[in-house]
Amino acid sequence: GVRDGLGAYIAKPEKYAPDVVVYHNDDFVAIHDMFPKSSLHLLLLPRDQTKTRMHPFDAFEDAEFLEKVKAETRTLLKLAAGELRRKYGKDSAQEQTRQAALSADPPPDELPQGRDWEQDIVVGVHAVPSMNHLHIHVLSVDRYSERLKHRKHYNSFSTPFFVPIEDFPLAEDDVRRNPTKEGYLKRDFTCWRCNRGFGNRFAELKQHLEQEFKEWKKL
Ligand code: 5GP
Ligand code: ZN
Repeated sequence: GVRDGLGAYIAKPEKYAPDVVVYHNDDFVAIHDMFPKSSLHLLLLPRDQTKTRMHPFDAFEDAEFLEKVKAETRTLLKLAAGELRRKYGKDSAQEQTRQAALSADPPPDELPQGRDWEQDIVVGVHAVPSMNHLHIHVLSVDRYSERLKHRKHYNSFSTPFFVPIEDFPLAEDDVRRNPTKEGYLKRDFTCWRCNRGFGNRFAELKQHLEQEFKEWKKL
């Protein structure tokens, strides 16, 4: 069924490189999300046969496995940050300051640091995944995408329904273990950047996200 769609990448990553598959090794396959919910949206798929069909909360109970996944997400995070720098670096205020310093005569001994794009990327899982194969989302914070079409798309990445990888292992009494009871996907919209509330006005939120995207890139 459609919920098994990610399995093909795990089984035969070479078949989908380089369009969908970003890289693969014995233990992981990194891919582009086919319906991206941000301007950059990647998925990390662990290939471990004993884990790939498990719910992330259960799979991450294995401490050794969890550490391996965390290490690999750091690798993918660096790669994603490089991608954001290539896409938006030229627009960002920090990059322009850096370029100006570089071209000064003489250039200063210490160049200003460029923007740390890793700060603009989130890594985690959905409390209730829709796809069967274990996957970790690695996406830019903008939530700016044509594919973000439904209310639940926004809230699934902007409420505690999205569980950061660093929060694992989860405590036994963690409320995020009961995502439906908490009603995360039905919550009123809040802008990820300025915290402004949009009630359930999705069209208005979408317009605002476009404005925030433009400013975020230039920051
Ligand atoms: P979930 O809600 O299960 O955590 O997220 C599953 C993700 O997989 C979604 O973001 C969705 O866009 C993505 N996805 C669904 N089917 C496919 C597919 O066939 N190929 C790729 N590359 N991504 C997919
Ligand atoms: Zn805002």
